[in-house]
Amino acid sequence: IDFIQALQLEGNKEKKEEVEKSEHQKIRMSIEETKKSLPVYPFKKSLIEAITNYQILIVEGETGSGKTTQIPQYLHEAGFTDDGKKIGCTQPRRVAAMSVSARVAQEMNVKLGNEVGYSIRFEDCTSDRTVIKYMTDGTLHREFLSEPDLASYSVMIIDEAHERTLHTDILFGLVKDITRFRPDLKLLISSATLDAEKFSTFFDDAPIFRIPGRRFPVDIYYTKAPEADYVDACVVSILQIHATQPLGDILVFLTGQEEIETCFEMLQERTKRIGKKLKELIILPVYANLPSDMQAKIFEPTPEGARKVVLATNIAETSLTIDNIIYVIDPGFAKQNNFNSKTGMESLMVVPISKASANQRAGRAGRVAPGKCFRLYTAWAYKYELEDNTIPEIQRINLGNAVLTLKALGINDLIHFDFLDPPPHETLVLALEQLYALGALNHHGELTKAGRRMAEFPTDPMLAKMLLASEKYKCSEEIVTIAAMLSVNSSVFYRPKDKIIHADTARKNFFHPHGDHLTLMNVYNQWVGSEFSVQWCYENFIQYRSMKRARDVREQLAGLMERVEIDMVSSLSDDTNIRKAITAGYFYHIAKFSKGGHYKTVKHNQTVMIHPNSALFEELPRWVIYHELVFTSKEFMRQVTEIESKWLLEVAPHYYKAKELEDSTNKKMPKTVGKSSNR
Ligand code: ADP
Ligand code: MG
Repeated sequence: IDFIQALQLEGNKEKKEEVEKSEHQKIRMSIEETKKSLPVYPFKKSLIEAITNYQILIVEGETGSGKTTQIPQYLHEAGFTDDGKKIGCTQPRRVAAMSVSARVAQEMNVKLGNEVGYSIRFEDCTSDRTVIKYMTDGTLHREFLSEPDLASYSVMIIDEAHERTLHTDILFGLVKDITRFRPDLKLLISSATLDAEKFSTFFDDAPIFRIPGRRFPVDIYYTKAPEADYVDACVVSILQIHATQPLGDILVFLTGQEEIETCFEMLQERTKRIGKKLKELIILPVYANLPSDMQAKIFEPTPEGARKVVLATNIAETSLTIDNIIYVIDPGFAKQNNFNSKTGMESLMVVPISKASANQRAGRAGRVAPGKCFRLYTAWAYKYELEDNTIPEIQRINLGNAVLTLKALGINDLIHFDFLDPPPHETLVLALEQLYALGALNHHGELTKAGRRMAEFPTDPMLAKMLLASEKYKCSEEIVTIAAMLSVNSSVFYRPKDKIIHADTARKNFFHPHGDHLTLMNVYNQWVGSEFSVQWCYENFIQYRSMKRARDVREQLAGLMERVEIDMVSSLSDDTNIRKAITAGYFYHIAKFSKGGHYKTVKHNQTVMIHPNSALFEELPRWVIYHELVFTSKEFMRQVTEIESKWLLEVAPHYYKAKELEDSTNKKMPKTVGKSSNR
């Protein structure tokens, strides 16, 4: 990598001392001192004054200024919880809600879940005593269903508003409406970047409270040519920084758990090879499914003489602030859910970030001292290839779940809903059509009884429909298990680089001939058989943490099944019913093996492939249903199960016509042909 030379040429002697000094200062600082050192602290009084005087306030301040952790505490101290009401604070990401609430509980010296708690999907860590509650924006969106006036809150903070997630965008409209008939409710919209004016305009010209930031200069380096393998380039850059640069921690932005794990393993291996020649390098991953004890580690002060390198998803861009970062490595990518309203297909893909994101990332290096940001892309790419801003989620993802929740809230006219930026008309119409096809809406666009039950589940409407369908097909036990396993992503199987063959053999032992949904069920059931054993997971290359989470999710889902009055029953040996129930929810996700040796989606004739990790990768059945599409080199179907086309007429007669399901060539494909062409 070509900026290595730039690194080696620099002496950096004076800076070295500066960095080390500030590091040691930080470690010695007590919680009280740390609180007082935050940029928001001098504004404590004027902030409370502003909140007292205005019902709605836009708060703008750079990331790390203390907005999320401090403002709720200030409000609590100022008496905003004295009437028995709570302060709510939304976060776009689960990890942030958990980590920030843990920090605030620590600062207030209370047990997490008592006075300070968090609530995220499938997990509620609050109690009657909770007065400061952090939650995901999705959780608050759902809370409207049970408490449409947010009566239990005295203040609501919509935090990280600049992230513009789908739920945050919808909350804007909902909370704005509530402030009109609840004059006692205070509303704070808090944002890290320059969108404040826009928020102010939307909220009837609410005043903006600016917290002046402190920022040290950050030098930016680019590569001279594009990097072919940015994970490898990250590893090389990390080691170069470690070898040539003064102490100070490194933050690396990767796109997801798998990539982070790959990078982690590569780094470990290479540092082992280098041996004791270098100072200690502490490698810490951060991503959404990381267990909380591991999350806490990233905030622990780096021991003297060592260097910390944090491998994070874009969660560390603005949601989490890790102190003492001096170096940032930015490959320039993020994982994004994108929805194509023409094809109705949603797909998770790795995309280039925007200039705004790139600048946020760089800014993370300059919080405590002058820093450096290494962009693993060219200056030309930055200038000409990156968009200025990230498109808000509401304009690029499937709105099925959002529309269902809004309908359940009695908001029927979605075209005229008060959106900050309205979603594209086609996307809205498509969501309505999909909900109609799923039976959640009638032809007037009103919520049906089934729709009302579906809205009870905090999931995609298709998953909710699958859960409901398990009633008819008498397999609720199995479907709840499958739903829980699907919701922990594909992270169930552990594949360490040095034991890939063993891991893959272990995985194959779970394979069900009909596909991945049943394979996941097998894994879960065998784990139950092992009495939830850690050892069993270890021996079978299964991630214990993911399994534990699946178990929690399963428990939650079973509780919701009870609420919609579906008995838990088992279909015993027959898996046809299970697959029919899955089809009843996911009939949009059907692909058919075509003559060309690959799969085509039925409605839109898109070419898709079975993911190499699938149980059906070498089987190639004629008709399959998939859980999701992942776009890497090709469009891959992940979690694939064989179905029979005639079921589609049974579960979705209003969506499929017998004609489009006819098989002209009803012979099974010779296995070898398909196998090679699928690669
Ligand atoms: P903002 O919301 O303005 O970006 P925060 O309130 O998140 O700022 O962060 C303020 C400070 O609190 C930062 O110095 C950050 O490192 C620290 N902090 C936040 N969460 C934790 C945690 N879980 N453990 C330790 N420190 C934390
Ligand atoms: Mg924050």
